[in-house]
Amino acid sequence: MSDHYDLIAIGGGSGGLSIAERAAKYGAKCAVVEKGKMGGTCVNRGCVPKKVMWYAAGIAASIRDAKGYGFDIEQKGFDFKHLVTEREKYISGINSWYHTFLKDSDIDEIVGDATFINKNTIEVAGKQYTADHIVISPGGQPIVPDIEGAELGITSDGFFELTKQPKRIAIIGSGYIAVEIAGLLHSLGSEVTLFLRKEGILKEFDSMLRDTLMEVMLEQGINILSRTQIQKIVKMDDGLCLVSNAGHQHEGFDEVIWAIGREPLTASLNLDSAGVKTDENGYIPVDDYQNTNVKGIYAVGDVIGKAQLTPVAIAAARRLGDRLYGNMPDRHLKYENIATIVFSHPPLGTVGLTEAQARQKHGAAVKVWQTRFDSMYFALTDKKLPTAMKLVTVGAKDKVVGCHIMGQGVDEMLQGFAVAIRMGATKQDFDDTIAIHPTSSEELVTMR
Ligand code: FAD
Repeated sequence: MSDHYDLIAIGGGSGGLSIAERAAKYGAKCAVVEKGKMGGTCVNRGCVPKKVMWYAAGIAASIRDAKGYGFDIEQKGFDFKHLVTEREKYISGINSWYHTFLKDSDIDEIVGDATFINKNTIEVAGKQYTADHIVISPGGQPIVPDIEGAELGITSDGFFELTKQPKRIAIIGSGYIAVEIAGLLHSLGSEVTLFLRKEGILKEFDSMLRDTLMEVMLEQGINILSRTQIQKIVKMDDGLCLVSNAGHQHEGFDEVIWAIGREPLTASLNLDSAGVKTDENGYIPVDDYQNTNVKGIYAVGDVIGKAQLTPVAIAAARRLGDRLYGNMPDRHLKYENIATIVFSHPPLGTVGLTEAQARQKHGAAVKVWQTRFDSMYFALTDKKLPTAMKLVTVGAKDKVVGCHIMGQGVDEMLQGFAVAIRMGATKQDFDDTIAIHPTSSEELVTMR
């Protein structure tokens, strides 16, 4: 293994792997440093295990719905451990694939914790490596608050280590990770209580999505306690007890999950010795081209604190590779119109501006189209889940600047609409598109 590289990526997650892959394609000699499992958060304790659990929760819901369609099905049991074992086998297949891929791409793997020595040198497990370009992509970790008994709770990382389904679970947080774990555990049969510090969930989403999902979650039987700040966790005979503001006690939980946000993994990188600046929360500020304040050092992915999603880390990294080695000096990622899905039950999807953001930016030029209906799937089932859709447009041409959808199937529906919106589609373009019938997505091109 050579000690000098054209490019070293710190972190073998979505960002680090993608920059090394793209740079190596152009012939650069690259290495990826990873202290944990190859694939990073997304593969090992994020998107992938979460989606497997979400599928399982969807199957549980389908079994309940099957009666309405005439099936005489009795659910005799559910083996959580089997699900987790199979999920982890699937993930270790992905991990192995990465090792083979790196080898085949002539990218070196350096195992261990990277720290900077100077702007061109890092140290890993006592050995120093130099590079012309260093890309920082260490991702982040869940935040655990500094309160009494906090260690009695787990985080999303701990959730993916559970081999026994918690029957009574408390989830503290209002972001997408809290909402997703709450939804899937509820569907799998756990008793779920969601503790919110403020009033609502998913604060950065459109109000229609936030309100409709909250309404559905309450209807489904998820216990949601707003304006409840947890101040202490205590172990009692009957499980864990959460003590909230005003001294209220919430007792009898098998597990407590902290889902109150994530922080960047920059503290141990010794960034000072390379002169790389961070903001007050530890994130690394970059310009439009992923450049940090130090020439030759870049940052991509969650560590920059913007649009913390796997495809964003991948896209920023690949564009950086194109720029550094592919003779595309202006290639960079524009952090706008990024579509995203929350894998709740039902899922919700969003791209572009929320209605509130559009009104703030464009005032009276904004128009809104919305609809709410029961998808045909639920015509025969006992339990119904609403589908809700909103289009936000701007100006005389009604350019679509926001699309917010919730309901069965929206997770697979949004991508195509995101292309149209990125290309500048107007409401007329939507209206002129012939509907696919009978689907839920046809409502998006037939809204009045
Ligand atoms: P990471 O993937 O976190 O990779 C960073 C890697 O760097 C890690 O493997 C870490 O071990 C390593 N590392 C850190 N410090 C060092 C060091 N000093 N030396 C060596 N190695 C180091 N995104 C989506 O798009 N869709 C989803 O559905 C989705 N679901 C999610 C669900 C959960 C529960 C979580 C937590 C995240 C989810 N995300 C999702 C977000 C997604 O996982 C991240 O945006 C993405 O992984 C960021 O990639 P990254 O390369 O910046 O960091």
